[in-house]
Amino acid sequence: MSEVILPPAMIGIIGGGQLGRMMAIAARQMGYRIGVLEPGPNGPLAQIADLEINAAYDDEHALRQLLDASAVTTYEFENISAETVADLAAHGNLPQGPRPVAITQHRLLEKNAINEAGFETAPYANVPTADSLDSAVAQIGYPAILKTVTGGYDGKGQRVLSAAEDLLQARELVSDSPCILEGFVPFDKEISVIVTRSVTGEIQTFEPVENVHKNGILHLSMVPAVISAEVVAKAEAVARGLMEKLDFIGTLAIEMFVVGDDIVINELAPRPHNSGHLTIDAHNVSQFEQHIRAISGLPLVAPQRIAPSVMVNLLGQHVDYALEQWQKPEYGWGKLHLYGKAENKRDRKVGHLTFVNSDADLLSDTITNFLADFPD
Ligand code: ATP
Ligand code: MG
Repeated sequence: MSEVILPPAMIGIIGGGQLGRMMAIAARQMGYRIGVLEPGPNGPLAQIADLEINAAYDDEHALRQLLDASAVTTYEFENISAETVADLAAHGNLPQGPRPVAITQHRLLEKNAINEAGFETAPYANVPTADSLDSAVAQIGYPAILKTVTGGYDGKGQRVLSAAEDLLQARELVSDSPCILEGFVPFDKEISVIVTRSVTGEIQTFEPVENVHKNGILHLSMVPAVISAEVVAKAEAVARGLMEKLDFIGTLAIEMFVVGDDIVINELAPRPHNSGHLTIDAHNVSQFEQHIRAISGLPLVAPQRIAPSVMVNLLGQHVDYALEQWQKPEYGWGKLHLYGKAENKRDRKVGHLTFVNSDADLLSDTITNFLADFPD
């Protein structure tokens, strides 16, 4: 069994964006020190790190420098080469290893792994080249979604196919990069379950979060999700079962579609996730603290919700409006999180605002009013 890593040991984080920053805030609160490797200087995480290494994500020398300085190292994103992670895991303490990255950075491998583990996804077909598009469409039918197998996020690298006239555009996408074609799932709701598995094998799940997307980007996350107790239990069982079957360590997010009483898995993220940000303010433990506990060998905390909560995502174009509203007493109780990004770029996630209140009517009215003039 691995040794427990206690503060003030250094935790290394590969990737310096907002997810790393929020991991680091949780870790620093407990007294850990933080090292970060990212290409550019002074990013969201580097602003609060003890050690900053600026180097490319494939710079083996620099990565080893981070590992050598850290008692344990993790990553905040999946778009790092699995081979690099495998080398690092052989060299130092990177308990998550390469598999979560290798599987989740490739939509086809991910779908295969989920189905082999015995869980349901949308029907899908491999579309490695434009030539294979017609047979994939014949197999899956319309409507369907063509997605690049690597590199997609926030709905980027996707085309919806409703009829044959959409094939031309779809062919362009697959000519640029290999894709899969997914059958469109007529879902009632989208939920996600944040699940953590520690190096000791202990597993804890947060309650399902209900998610609303706008233009392919997460807009709102809410707890409790308005779904039946049966679906809650199914979703949590799926999350737990998948972690065990896939033998993953760390905090993971599982995006799911609710179809009637059934759960269909959309995709996995091998790290804390945007839909779990509300756990910082709405639960007795956050997805970030749970992740740090998991990789450090500490016991996990059984999550409890403090009160109903809604998180509003803030994209670059929302910040001015949000700051104007947040100064007012009726919104000032919203917990503001800004990530310290250099610029407020359009459609990029730069912060979030979480409202937590045991008065569900007040919560719902506040959100309705807050969103009334929310910019697009
Ligand atoms: P993110 O990084 O924000 O999670 P992504 O780019 O990886 O997004 P997906 O999660 O695959 O993309 O898709 C984005 C959204 O598009 C989903 O949350 C869902 O609303 C819709 N969507 C994706 N695939 C399907 C599907 N097969 N059936 C129905 N809706 C889908
Ligand atoms: Mg998604």
